[in-house]
Amino acid sequence: MAKSPEGTARKAAERHVSQYAFYFDQHRCTGCKTCEIACKDFHHLDGELALRTIYEFAGGSWTQDSLGSWSQDVFCYHLSLSCNHCTNPICVRFCSSDAISKDKRGFVTIDPGLCVGCQACMTACPYHAPRFDEGRGITVKCDGCRERIAEGHLPVCVEACPQRALWFGPYDDVPHSKYVVSSVAPLPTSELTQPNLFIDPCTDARTHTADAGSVMNIYEA
Ligand code: SF4
Ligand code: SF4
Ligand code: SF4
Repeated sequence: MAKSPEGTARKAAERHVSQYAFYFDQHRCTGCKTCEIACKDFHHLDGELALRTIYEFAGGSWTQDSLGSWSQDVFCYHLSLSCNHCTNPICVRFCSSDAISKDKRGFVTIDPGLCVGCQACMTACPYHAPRFDEGRGITVKCDGCRERIAEGHLPVCVEACPQRALWFGPYDDVPHSKYVVSSVAPLPTSELTQPNLFIDPCTDARTHTADAGSVMNIYEA
């Protein structure tokens, strides 16, 4: 599953796909941010602006028992996240100028010519996927590299990951019974927007309902 051969992407480009999905193997991710930087480089994004973010989620503590012995339950894991091209994209409903739409292949994109920079989509999206481009005065977000997909290539972030932790392809090609749909903390419940993101959680992963841990590298919207 984590292998992402170009052949699979080429076959997907040739057949009708109504929805694509990301798959993230959390066991493999080292938090190196190569995916984030490759996307920034490809899209010529400067400074802090990024369409993919690597969250570092950690928690736990050290405790000392009555004999002075220390024990710990410290944990830390990473989560690579961009837009999930949700089945129920709340960003579309909140957009004040009809600039966001979901196309027939399931890609949710922002039309830069229609965006007025009101940032309503940024407020609505529970995944902080839309980001404000100060230089252009509009909101931008991951488009799933849909032009590359149409040409039979993989998204830049997927291709760049040295650990093969990311996969992107037709939703129906994901073995649904085996993986959870984005219920790993710090992500919210998937019921809000029905994200097309599958995660194979690592051993340390906490669910979104667990009251343990926090994001260590907080994204400032
Ligand atoms: S490039 Fe791969 S291993 Fe590195 S942060 Fe991204 S998903 Fe994780
Ligand atoms: S992740 Fe956010 S921006 Fe992307 S489709 Fe879902 S609600 Fe919209
Ligand atoms: S799919 Fe493309 S636009 Fe989206 S995060 Fe990956 S590289 Fe960036």
